[in-house]
Amino acid sequence: MGEGAKARYFIKHGACLYCPVACHKVVRSSNGEYDLEYETTMALGGLTGVHDPQRLIDLAELADRLGFDTISLGNTIAFLIYLGGEKGIVKGAPRWGG
Ligand code: SF4
Repeated sequence: MGEGAKARYFIKHGACLYCPVACHKVVRSSNGEYDLEYETTMALGGLTGVHDPQRLIDLAELADRLGFDTISLGNTIAFLIYLGGEKGIVKGAPRWGG
């Protein structure tokens, strides 16, 4: 998390039970607090081109609430973007960053 995003969104570190790595970042979402994992940031952010922190946090929170695995969801969307935008195989596929 960059310094600007950290100052605006970061609340505290978090972790899965007994994990000493503690890679989670508890951040401010539009609904309150959300426990963001770095894998989610990679999959729903970097792979799909969603670089706005608030959009990414809210998207991840919504995906969690709907029962999606955020890493699988991000990879699936990225694959659709690839098939639609680069290969033209899937019509109506989402765009990178859209
Ligand atoms: S997701 Fe992060 S906190 Fe959880 S087990 Fe993996 S490294 Fe540890």
